[in-house]
Amino acid sequence: MKDRIKEYAKSIGFDLVGFTDADVFDIADVLRERGQKGYLSGLEKGDIEERIDPEKVLPGARSIIALGLYYGGAKKHENGKGRVSRSAWGRDYHTVLGSMMGELVEYLKKEYGAKSISLVDNNPMVEREIARRAGIGFYGKNCSIINPDMGSWIFLGEILTDLSIEPDAPLEHDCDDCERCIKACPTGAIAGPYEINAKKCLSYITVMKGFVPEEMKDKLQNRIYGCDICQEACPYNKINFRRNPTLALDIPYDMEDLSFILSMDNKRFMESFKQTSAGWRGRTVLQRNALIAAGNMRIKGLADTVAGLLADQRPVIRGTAAWALSRIMGAESLDILHRAYDAEKDEDVKREIEDAMYWMKEGN
Ligand code: SF4
Ligand code: SF4
Repeated sequence: MKDRIKEYAKSIGFDLVGFTDADVFDIADVLRERGQKGYLSGLEKGDIEERIDPEKVLPGARSIIALGLYYGGAKKHENGKGRVSRSAWGRDYHTVLGSMMGELVEYLKKEYGAKSISLVDNNPMVEREIARRAGIGFYGKNCSIINPDMGSWIFLGEILTDLSIEPDAPLEHDCDDCERCIKACPTGAIAGPYEINAKKCLSYITVMKGFVPEEMKDKLQNRIYGCDICQEACPYNKINFRRNPTLALDIPYDMEDLSFILSMDNKRFMESFKQTSAGWRGRTVLQRNALIAAGNMRIKGLADTVAGLLADQRPVIRGTAAWALSRIMGAESLDILHRAYDAEKDEDVKREIEDAMYWMKEGN
């Protein structure tokens, strides 16, 4: 049965397939400690019990099938543009994996009468722990799951089932004395080996709502969605394999073009980012990040667009536009910022404008 399931999963297009039992995961202390240290972002789903007990997701679960889909592949980023993480370079993986796993769930039902449920980043269960236990990868020091042959550009999905399937063994592999990801991380978010402070991670910062903390704005550089730095530094990701064709998506817009992002209305957003995994937090966070990218890169050609956004309806866009304009135009933006300040009613935005003017008065 195990071989047949594996063969079917591969025929659907999965690159990695492994099996583990449905026993409670032995990581409660680790999760508790992360919470105590303040390393959680707040986006995590569920409480600790829900994150480690398969029985809470599928009563009667006996096995878990861990699945992986490779999403690497080379792409050149152009100067003067934003940067979107590889995970969002194609169709939204939730949709792609969701439909592939739906096919596998149907197969398990038809062939074995199994009751099964598929998960892809839509449930509290700790997916990486499932992947580790099922032997499709090992934990890297940056907490990504690394397959020794494919690296860490892998989307993970899982199927919980009431079938009893012989588990695979975890891989006997580790990072050895490598620390490249820790050294490469620009914010110190990798607090130590296997320990991420999610609040300092740029992947989280790009999707957090509201104003980006001042000390993180320059660290974001030109990131619009996600951060791939620690994975790019990893020697296991040196080789780029062919991208899985199921992820291919033809979007008629350049999602790294800051001018496009800053001017996109809801319709354009639905036709572009919303087709990918970069759209789940909505249009505003992407436009806020594009303002920060324009400011960090001092793109003079965007000065008028940025100045126009000082009158936007959304406070976070007005405040971040003030920050960006001060970086792009320097002291030349003082008059414009003064006028914006006088017209502004929102206290948070006023503070952002004040900070931007203060930064220039400091001689920047
Ligand atoms: S994703 Fe970026 S910010 Fe987060 S740990 Fe990796 S390098 Fe650091
Ligand atoms: S860069 Fe080195 S330490 Fe970091 S995950 Fe890769 S192998 Fe492990």
